[in-house]
Amino acid sequence: MKYIFGADVGGTTVKLGFFDESCKILKKWELPTRPENGGSAILPDIAAAIDACLAEFGVNRDDVLGIGIGVPGPVDDNGNVNRCVNLNWGVFNLHETLGKLTGLRVKAGNDANVAALGEFYDGGGRGSRSMLMVTIGTGLGGGFIWNGHILNGAHGVAGELGHLTINRDETERCSCGKYGCAEQYGSARGMAMLARRRLAKDDEPSSLRKQDSVTAKVLFDEARAGDALAKEILDEAFAILGETIADACCMVDPELVVLGGGVSKAGQDLIDGVWPYFEKFRFHASKGTRFALATLGNDAGIHGCFHLIAD
Ligand SMILES: [Zn+2]
Repeated sequence: MKYIFGADVGGTTVKLGFFDESCKILKKWELPTRPENGGSAILPDIAAAIDACLAEFGVNRDDVLGIGIGVPGPVDDNGNVNRCVNLNWGVFNLHETLGKLTGLRVKAGNDANVAALGEFYDGGGRGSRSMLMVTIGTGLGGGFIWNGHILNGAHGVAGELGHLTINRDETERCSCGKYGCAEQYGSARGMAMLARRRLAKDDEPSSLRKQDSVTAKVLFDEARAGDALAKEILDEAFAILGETIADACCMVDPELVVLGGGVSKAGQDLIDGVWPYFEKFRFHASKGTRFALATLGNDAGIHGCFHLIAD
């Protein structure tokens, strides 16, 4: 039997998975991400966790096919990382660095792309041949899978639909430094920003005004309970998401769009909200494009890491 490790590195935790070659998870655990000192402890922490796991299972290093790793920033096909702001990482080669620490083959990918790969093989994208994953969490990420492979692009930028400019008049900055990115409106943080702006505009009564903070979840809950202003704010976010996804589909024309990330916990309400705007803004020949929800939740990343190595 051969084995594969998956490491999905986030800003607060590293999610680890130890798989056998049939994609069965033998162990799943988390480490705290330590971003201090330029994030220099993160890879040694992962290497130590892998060593401990091999010892625990009595598995020989020669029987490990490799480590798939997802990181929150751009990575090219050769493993060159170009700044991961949340980890305080600069520019270096992840394949070499983690390979030296572990003695194992390493294949890296951007976290959104890797989650897309996981959903493609094991989740909401199963059975499709081309899939655009839209990750609606704190930020707005995307990943495109074509015939089982991530479309990474020349600089690891492919699929970054959250940073399509959709408002040239925006005066607040996006986390990326630009102005008017889709992420500024269509992510969880963006929905909270739309709520803040709308509530400040006038004093129309709303159950939202009784909330300590208006998050994306609060907006969905209050809209479901019938609050008109919550529906209006969400509708604006849905319009931006529908337009952004329709534009992205003009570039890559996927068979299936999978909606994932924390906001996708809203389930069918999210699809029902975004779909009419997708229909409005899509190119006519995109008519057959289908929407589905992600199914793997937080495990999408480690599943994708497995497939980085396995396929
Ligand atoms: Zn941006």
